[in-house]
Amino acid sequence: MQNFALSNFGRRPGPCVAAKYSGETGHRLGARYGAGLSERSRFGRELSELQRNRDLGGRRWIYVPYDQLNDGFGPLAALDPREAGVLLIEHPGKAARRPYHRQKLALVLSNQRHFALEQAARGVVIDYRVAGEGGYAEVVRRVARERGPLIVQEPAERELREELRSLLGRELSEVPHAGWLTTFEQFQRAAPAGPPYRMDAFYRVVRRELNVLMERGKPRGGRFSFDAENRKPYRGEPAAPETLRFSPDAVTLEVGELIERHYSQHPGQLDLTSLPATRRDAEQQLDWALANCLPTFGPFEDAMSTTSSGLFHTRLSPLINLHRLLPSVVLAGVLSTSLPLASQEGFVRQVLGWREFVRHVHRATDGFRVLPAGIIGEPAAPSALGAARPLPPAYWGDRSGLACLDHVVTDVWREAYSHHITRLMVLSNLASLLELSPRELTDWFWVAYADAYDWVVEPNVLAMGTYAVADLMTTKPYVSGAAYIQRMSDYCRGCSFDPKRNCPITPLYWAFLARHEQQLGGNQRMMVPLTALRRRPAARRAHDARVFEAVSARLAEGQPVTPAELPALPE
Ligand SMILES: Cc1cc2nc3c(=O)[nH]c(=O)nc-3n(C[C@H](O)[C@H](O)[C@H](O)COP(=O)(O)OP(=O)(O)OC[C@H]3O[C@@H](n4cnc5c(N)ncnc54)[C@H](O)[C@@H]3O)c2cc1C
Ligand code: SF4
Repeated sequence: MQNFALSNFGRRPGPCVAAKYSGETGHRLGARYGAGLSERSRFGRELSELQRNRDLGGRRWIYVPYDQLNDGFGPLAALDPREAGVLLIEHPGKAARRPYHRQKLALVLSNQRHFALEQAARGVVIDYRVAGEGGYAEVVRRVARERGPLIVQEPAERELREELRSLLGRELSEVPHAGWLTTFEQFQRAAPAGPPYRMDAFYRVVRRELNVLMERGKPRGGRFSFDAENRKPYRGEPAAPETLRFSPDAVTLEVGELIERHYSQHPGQLDLTSLPATRRDAEQQLDWALANCLPTFGPFEDAMSTTSSGLFHTRLSPLINLHRLLPSVVLAGVLSTSLPLASQEGFVRQVLGWREFVRHVHRATDGFRVLPAGIIGEPAAPSALGAARPLPPAYWGDRSGLACLDHVVTDVWREAYSHHITRLMVLSNLASLLELSPRELTDWFWVAYADAYDWVVEPNVLAMGTYAVADLMTTKPYVSGAAYIQRMSDYCRGCSFDPKRNCPITPLYWAFLARHEQQLGGNQRMMVPLTALRRRPAARRAHDARVFEAVSARLAEGQPVTPAELPALPE
């Protein structure tokens, strides 16, 4: 796979970087691509057909961003469809700003187009436009001139909030985003003294205040968390559910052609048969998850397997983050289904707890631009442990020789997805152990995963995955040696390394602890590993450091690591 110089466009939305690899500017791309929306296109024809002879007068106009594709919340829910006009914008320059996975581009475009058709079918007037160089703001400005000020729900993505800022109070009237389940005040009640922020405290507050899984003021089952019971490795039983397949309709097929035509240089496999695109597809995905994943969700939540990239995880996040599925509907579905409590609570903690929590941290820190003193790094590019090495080609699909990493990377470029533990304990763990730049890793996640947007990917990678903001959001770095990966996965069986004998991940782990011994020394939760480190013989520690340098060098060159290449163990 082609390697992209992510570091060139990681930090902030820069000029259209598509030019770097496709030879087109966002403007030219927009102009050519705009033709695709004319009545010559299937989508354009279907939309015009639905809107033929429709009266445009007396409508209340709403700008619906690409990730608010649902009529069940916010201003659209409150209006009679015959009174509502909706502006939707495709922005080729945004799609080309980073080398987004092709499947992700198809997911967003196909869902937005189907949302347009679904709304037109129920009587809403749709104004569907393609942005040029002026981006979203320019289109909104133009439409506001024609039709008067529009309403918008506060965008979840900071990038879009920034783009629209100059229009607020004039062309755009902003109302709170009604899709979230919790409020910033609840987040503050859980952390009255400010940072560090803790998910557990937030989760208890919102469970109590929203009365979720509570009985007479107490958590159902006597505990707020059943996490400790949800750590079983997976040994093949019960069989993991087959993922849902969809029949792409003409609109989705047209999006597929558009992706192949304009974004062919983007990485990742495009598979339209695994792409939920319509409202009905999204509902089917939720039904599938409730019936097939949730009953077994809890026990295998942390397991990883070569036999299934998702195991019993629901694959709902891409649809929830686009609001094709409202979080409230997903939560209600899980609460109204009869499930083992450990699975039900485990899932509730993810959606009501973690998802909401990371969004509040994103806003409280202005996307990590406002950080406690003493954290190394630039705004939005913190690196509390000083990690700064570039991401090696292995993350773009070159073989690393580490079966766990290679397996997960292959899954990601095939599906724009992998589940939580593979993101945390393989991709981020390896990145931390190899001192890779947290910002570069974040940007990689942002382009590679279908569910990634700044508000969610930055807290997850910078705070949870790499400890780049120290203990702001998590209590310790999530790092491990080979023992964890061996216990929780079957990856080691197909590896040229032996997790107990010569796997480099274990010395990498010790070398990480040694490099950061001083900085992590005051952390209670690191006491046990740091005490073990102090008992580690000096010769072993020197070997650990040599392995770190050898593995880093091989991967930086784009070469796989092999047992023969590693420094010999001390006698
Ligand atoms: C390094 C790293 C990067 C991540 N990047 C993203 C990202 O870009 N976008 C994203 O949505 N999630 C991200 N996550 C969180 C989590 O891994 C995904 O939400 C989850 O894997 C989605 O798959 P699923 O729907 O099958 O999950 P399931 O386990 O079936 O469902 C849990 C649901 O809870 C929500 N959820 C759980 N944990 C989180 C969390 N930490 N943050 C936000 N939502 C959460 C999601 O909506 C998800 O659909 C990241 C986690 C890590 C460790
Ligand atoms: S032996 Fe080591 S490198 Fe290989 S899969 Fe296991 S943990 Fe990963």
